[in-house]
Amino acid sequence: MKLLFSSWFGDIVDNRGKEPSDYADVRGIKQFPADFGGGRTATAYMGWGGIVLLSEPYDIVELTYEYARALQASSCAKCFPCRTGTKVIEDILLGILEGRGTAEDLSHLARLCDSVSSNSKCGIGQLGPVALEHALKYFAGDFAKYISGERKRSGFQYPWKMTAPCTSACPTGMDIPLYIEYIKDGNPAGSLSTIREASPMACSLGRACFHPCENNCRRANVDQPLAICKLKRFAWDYEDLRDAEKPANPNKHKRPEKVAMIGAGIASLAAAYYLANKGYRVTIFEKLARSGGAIRTGIPHYRVPNEALDREIAYIVSLGVEIKYGVHFGKDETFKSLRDKGYKVIFLGTGGDLSKKMGADGEDAGYDGFYNGIDILKQVKIGTDPVPKRKRVLVVGGGNTAMDCARTFRRLGSEVIIVYRRTEKELPADPHEVYESKEEGVQYMFLEAPTKIIAQNGKISGLECQTMELGEPDASGRRRPVAVKGSEHVIPADCIISAIGQDCDIFYLKEDPNIKITKWDNPVVHPDTLQSDVADVFAGGDCVTGPLTLVMATGQGRRAAQSILQFLEGKTVAISDEQRVENLIAAIGAYDKKEKVSMPGGWKRQDMPIISHDLKVNSFEEVELGYSQTQAMEEAARCMRCYIVGMASVTSKESGEGK
Ligand SMILES: Cc1cc2nc3c(=O)[nH]c(=O)nc-3n(C[C@H](O)[C@H](O)[C@H](O)COP(=O)(O)OP(=O)(O)OC[C@H]3O[C@@H](n4cnc5c(N)ncnc54)[C@H](O)[C@@H]3O)c2cc1C
Repeated sequence: MKLLFSSWFGDIVDNRGKEPSDYADVRGIKQFPADFGGGRTATAYMGWGGIVLLSEPYDIVELTYEYARALQASSCAKCFPCRTGTKVIEDILLGILEGRGTAEDLSHLARLCDSVSSNSKCGIGQLGPVALEHALKYFAGDFAKYISGERKRSGFQYPWKMTAPCTSACPTGMDIPLYIEYIKDGNPAGSLSTIREASPMACSLGRACFHPCENNCRRANVDQPLAICKLKRFAWDYEDLRDAEKPANPNKHKRPEKVAMIGAGIASLAAAYYLANKGYRVTIFEKLARSGGAIRTGIPHYRVPNEALDREIAYIVSLGVEIKYGVHFGKDETFKSLRDKGYKVIFLGTGGDLSKKMGADGEDAGYDGFYNGIDILKQVKIGTDPVPKRKRVLVVGGGNTAMDCARTFRRLGSEVIIVYRRTEKELPADPHEVYESKEEGVQYMFLEAPTKIIAQNGKISGLECQTMELGEPDASGRRRPVAVKGSEHVIPADCIISAIGQDCDIFYLKEDPNIKITKWDNPVVHPDTLQSDVADVFAGGDCVTGPLTLVMATGQGRRAAQSILQFLEGKTVAISDEQRVENLIAAIGAYDKKEKVSMPGGWKRQDMPIISHDLKVNSFEEVELGYSQTQAMEEAARCMRCYIVGMASVTSKESGEGK
C-alpha cells in the first residue's frame, strides 16, 4: 500500500518529501481506510505496531501525547513500570506540547519507553511504547519545533480503542484477557459478569463457539493457543453448579417503551438481554414452542444439553424479558399489528431454517428414509415422535450440520457415511467436529455428488452419485468439483439426509417493500448499526448474514441493542468513534502469525476431560465434562494479556492546515 510513512512492525518506509507517484510501497498493510465516517478523514494512526501516516495534515507530537494518555488510561495498575512509567511519559509529553519542553526531555522519554517496554507484564506496557519510540526517532524535527515554540497544538480528534488480538477477532468484542484473569485470580463470578458485558450466552458459547479468538491468540506463537472457549464454559458452569445468586435487574420494566423481537434465537436473546437491563419491555415472538433457536433445534444434546440451555435462557427471562411461543411472524403478527399494539421497535432475528435442496431427482418424492438435516436434528432434539432406526445412513454435505447429523445417527446405532463432493481438504466443517466424527466411527466418501434418490416401494434403497474431480477454484476460492462423465453409480443405503446448507425464510418482508432484500434473501441493514431502511426495524444474526455462527449472531444482537437504544432515546443511530477504531484495528489485523514472541514455550494447554468412548457413541450424554477449578486456573495462567491500543488521528474535511 502507498503511504506517506510507516514504521509498522519496524519496517520503515518514509515517503515524506516525495511526490505520491514516487512513493515506495508499504508491505504488510493491505488496507487503511482514510474515510473515518461523519465526513471526517483519518490521516494518521498509532498503535502497537508503530506509526502509519496516510496524508497531511497530522501532528505527530499531539498524537504521541494522546497515545501516551490512552496507554496510561488503559494501564491496569497491577504492575508498577507500566502504571507509573506511562504517567511520567504522558506528563513530559504534555510539557512539550505546552511549550515547557527541553531537549533533555527527548532522551529522558526514550529511556523511559525502553524501561517500560522491558519491565512491564502485559501488552499495554510491553507493546505500547514501541510507537512512542518510533515517534521520537523518526520525527525528532517535529518535537524540536514544539520545544522551540515554533509549533502549537493542532486540536485534531484522537479516537482510540484498547483491545487485544483475541478480542479483535471476536464479533462480540469481548474483553477476553480480563475474563481469563478473573479465573486465574479465583473469581469465576467476576469472569462471568465480564463475559456478560459482551454476550449473555456464556453457557452455549462456552460449549459450541467456533472460537475465532483462538486463531488470533499470541500464545500460539509461543506454544499453543489458550483454551479461551473452554474457560468461558468454566466461568458459567462454576456459577451455575453453585446456583450462585443471579444478579437482579434493578431497572426491570422501568421504561414504558415496548420492543418486539422476532425469533427466540441467540441474536434476539442477546439484544433482549441488553435492552431489558436498560429497563425496556421486551417481548420475543417465537413460532416454535421452545426458545434457543438453532442451539435448541440443531446443535445436538451431546454438545449443548437442553437443561443447560434452559437455565441460560431462564436467566435472561428473569431480567424482564417475555417470550411468546407459537407466534409465527408474518402470519399471526405483522409489522402493522405489532406497531398497532404499541411496539416502538421490531428486531428481526429469524435465523435461517429452510433446508437447501440437493438438486437430486426424487428428493421431494416423500420417500421413507429421506430427511432434511435441520428437520431431523430438530426431531431428535425436541420432537415428540421417535426417529425410526436406520441401518445405513448417507449424510450429504460437509458442513457442521452434516457433522451433527452424522454424529447423531451414530448415536442412534446406524452405520453413517458422509458423502461430500470435494475432498477432505475442502470440508467446511470445524476441524474439531471432523475429528470427533471420525473418532466416533463416521465414514467418509469424497468426490461424490448425488444425482438421484433410489427407492423401492416408497422406501429408500440407495443414492445415485457421480464421481467428481476438482477443477479451477470457484468464487469461494475452493476448487470447483467437476463431474466425471459416465461415472454414475449407486451407494446402497436405507436413509439419506440432505445437509448442504440453509436459507432464510423472510416471507414476512413482503408486507413492507421499503425493507430491501439482498440477492440471497436477507434483509438489508447497515453493517454496523443493523438498522434497516425502515427506521424502527432492525435485524441481526443468521437472517442477515446467512447461516453463520453463534458468536456472530450474539455479537450482532448486542450491536443492534446499542442502536435500538439510540433510536429509543431519540438520538442519531450511528456507531461510536471507538467502534470505528475497533473496525479499523480488525481491518488492519491485530494478530501477526509470524511475530516472534520471546518467551519460553512448552506450557501445554489443558486437556478437556470427556466421557468414555462407549458412552459417547451409545448415548446423547454431553461429551465434554468441563475443566476443574485447578485446571481452569492453570490454563488461565497461560494468558499473556496481549492488550493493545490503537488510535486514529482524525480531521474534519474542512479542518485547518495542522502541519
Ligand atoms: C445443526 C446446526 C449446528 C450448528 N452448530 C454450530 C456450532 O457448533 N457453533 C456455532 O457457532 N454455530 C453453529 N451453528 C450456527 C448457529 O446455530 C447459528 O449461526 C445461530 O443459531 C444463529 O442465531 P440466530 O438467532 O440468528 O438464529 P436462530 O438460532 O436460527 O434462531 C431463529 C429463531 O427464529 C424463529 N423464527 C424463524 N422465523 C420466524 C417467524 N417468522 N416468526 C417467529 N419466529 C421465527 C426460529 O424458530 C428460531 O427459533 C449451527 C447451526 C446448525 C443448524
